[in-house]
Amino acid sequence: MSFRLFDAPEREPSQFVGFAGNRIDRQSELRGEDSVEKALANPAARLMLIREGRLFLKRIEDRFDAHFALDECHPLEARLDDAILLGFDESGPILAAPCLLDPESLPETIKAIDHRSIYIQGLIDPAALGALAQGAALLSWHASHGYCGRCGHRTEMRAGGYRRHCPACNIEHFPRTDPVAIMLSVTADRCLLGRGKHFAPGMYSALAGFIEPGETIEAAVRRETFEEAGIRLGRVVYHASQPWPFPYSLMIGCFGEPLNEDISADTNELEDCRWFSRGEVLAAMAGTHPGGIFIPPNGAIAHHLIGTWAESE
Ligand SMILES: [Zn+2]
Repeated sequence: MSFRLFDAPEREPSQFVGFAGNRIDRQSELRGEDSVEKALANPAARLMLIREGRLFLKRIEDRFDAHFALDECHPLEARLDDAILLGFDESGPILAAPCLLDPESLPETIKAIDHRSIYIQGLIDPAALGALAQGAALLSWHASHGYCGRCGHRTEMRAGGYRRHCPACNIEHFPRTDPVAIMLSVTADRCLLGRGKHFAPGMYSALAGFIEPGETIEAAVRRETFEEAGIRLGRVVYHASQPWPFPYSLMIGCFGEPLNEDISADTNELEDCRWFSRGEVLAAMAGTHPGGIFIPPNGAIAHHLIGTWAESE
């Protein structure tokens, strides 16, 4: 049977961004209250270990492995009581756990590397990077939601880490995903890029901002583009999304059609914001821009928005 919903590309654009390669079977409908205990009792269980924004990596010859067997976890002071079950792959259960061992005290073969460097330097394969996005986001949420937001009582982890229960007022708290709109305003021959104040010298990127409660994605894209650049948008089109574990966002990438040309940049947010020609963008992507301007790296959704437009007919 074949039914074409609409004329969409065969490969989703989201498949090409960093942190999107997660292949874990979450089996979310089977998560019971004892799912972590059961998974830890499985000799095939493997854990991803995280401490304060860093993932522990085992060096094996010229590559890194992000998964540790149970007997490898104990010397690293993994807190198995706070482990969460990410799901299963063909080898068995995969969990994530916070780790206490000071990165300075690690054995020679183990490194604790920050998530951003792992992603930019491509230190682990796309499936493990996707699993890191899942584990890091969940562990961050648990670390900052230990107390009930309604009554202040200590909460307890449930459902393999996908819920926290308050025993005092009996309500359930669920993990957060914070949506962020990231958007590229484009015409046939120009696109709008800005420079945040904290960017590396020379880097320009797509504009971005949090989607607020009660807003559609499209409304947030229009609002942020107008607030940051003074550009009003007509049509807005969704392109791709990217899990972004800093700490638990989902980047939602869109294109927008500008209705005016004159930019009025919000100088509190942006150091600069201007139109770039296609040729200038292609040079920035190739690293040959005469002004040394460049765009975010290949795994970033901003790179894919910019590249998709620059390389389109
Ligand atoms: Zn409570």
